[in-house]
Amino acid sequence: MNDSNGYEAVIGLEVHIQLTTRTKAFCGCSTRFGDAPNTNTCPVCLGYPGALPVANREMISMAIALGLATGCTIHHRSVFVRKHYFYPDLPKGYQISQYEDPICTDGTVDIELDDGTRKPVRIRRIHIEEDAGKSLHDIATETLIDLNRCGVPLLEIVTEPDLRTPAEAHAFLVLLRKIVTYLEICDGNMEEGSLRCDANVSVRPAGSREMRTKTEIKNLNSFRNVERALGYEIHRHAELLRQGESPESETLLWDAVRNLTVPLRGKEESPDYRYFPEPDLPPVVLDDAWIERVRAALPELPLARRDRFIANYGLSRYDADILTAEKPLADFFEHTVAGLKRRLPEDFKTACNWVTGDFTRMLRERKRPITDPPLSPAALAELLDMLIEGTISGKMAKQILEEAADTGVHPREIVGRSGAAQLTDEGFLSTLIDSVLRENEPSVRKYLGGRENVFGFFVGQVMKATQGRANPELVNRILREKLDERKKCHE
Ligand SMILES: [Zn+2]
Repeated sequence: MNDSNGYEAVIGLEVHIQLTTRTKAFCGCSTRFGDAPNTNTCPVCLGYPGALPVANREMISMAIALGLATGCTIHHRSVFVRKHYFYPDLPKGYQISQYEDPICTDGTVDIELDDGTRKPVRIRRIHIEEDAGKSLHDIATETLIDLNRCGVPLLEIVTEPDLRTPAEAHAFLVLLRKIVTYLEICDGNMEEGSLRCDANVSVRPAGSREMRTKTEIKNLNSFRNVERALGYEIHRHAELLRQGESPESETLLWDAVRNLTVPLRGKEESPDYRYFPEPDLPPVVLDDAWIERVRAALPELPLARRDRFIANYGLSRYDADILTAEKPLADFFEHTVAGLKRRLPEDFKTACNWVTGDFTRMLRERKRPITDPPLSPAALAELLDMLIEGTISGKMAKQILEEAADTGVHPREIVGRSGAAQLTDEGFLSTLIDSVLRENEPSVRKYLGGRENVFGFFVGQVMKATQGRANPELVNRILREKLDERKKCHE
């Protein structure tokens, strides 16, 4: 952070993402979240002596996918190690991880800041490891342990200290979350702990290249907390430096209630993990065919898709950002516009407004996810076609959207059945307007005499005669033509 007092921050992130494999990293147990405690366990993930782990191939493919998506070198040989530490929810007494030979190294992603400028952030490494179980301390007298999460596969992503502000750290996390959810290797749910972040931060005089003492903030569980914790810590470091002091190298936790960081443990207690190669697992050996198979299956990545939405559909960056924030929403939008009869930029904008506006609101009200909508993209396209061609008004479209969502009946069928279609029959409207003018001869004379505001009265009469179903633009046009004609005769 280039604050006014001449200091800048140096920030690096370590992000753990929980993979969406069906089974655990080294055994066949289910990874399902929310199952009854300790039901998804076996001798391997409980660490019984003699139980043999086998690496999950799907997990390895997911690590390759993330490595490719972040421009990393994918190593043909990587090694599992044991990382030793004691914790009650780690029954083996060690965690299987990767240390000196991780599967991916040396990548780069471009983050985008609010003003649209891009900045490269280097990825030092991505490695595979298993998760520990969960201790539940919130019971007054005891701690309970759930080992369902024990052995669930994780990827740890470590950046170089290339980030300078809390906003950049935030932008990196948002982008990483988008990438892993587009790859469908992580659900990105921070509340459930599927994406967790540790941040290293130090502060130095702006413009200097030196590295000052850093502190590490552990287990940041929301984007907001990452920004707030970093903001607090940078300010704290800068204050100490200003007083001629230096922060201690320590591990901290963010207290979101009191808005400050608190020490977890000091440097002198920093654990020695005694890494050594896992004797029960062979090195991960990848051939080119495996890597190429994963590459061929990569989806279009979020920033590329956002830029394509701008180029192909003529959308603003703002709209394209909203549509591509979540892959299922972007997919739904593209399936909807694929079903439109007319394909002008204004029609894509209409589709964008409906997908992000009324359609999203309808889903929220019905508590339905975009992946399981009560109305298909084809049905929404059908509704939008009728709106675009003027068969129905915007107000009617909203009602039909609700009805289609409630009943599953196709929008065109609803319109046909109810006779709710807007009147767009020119012949019919022309005859109707003739009779309205005939019945209101005194007003017509006033209009021809220069009282232009009587025009609205005629429109009102037509709308009244059709119970509001006449297409207003059409009524205006026909009426204008007829009155202009009378004016010519009058002159
Ligand atoms: Zn198991």
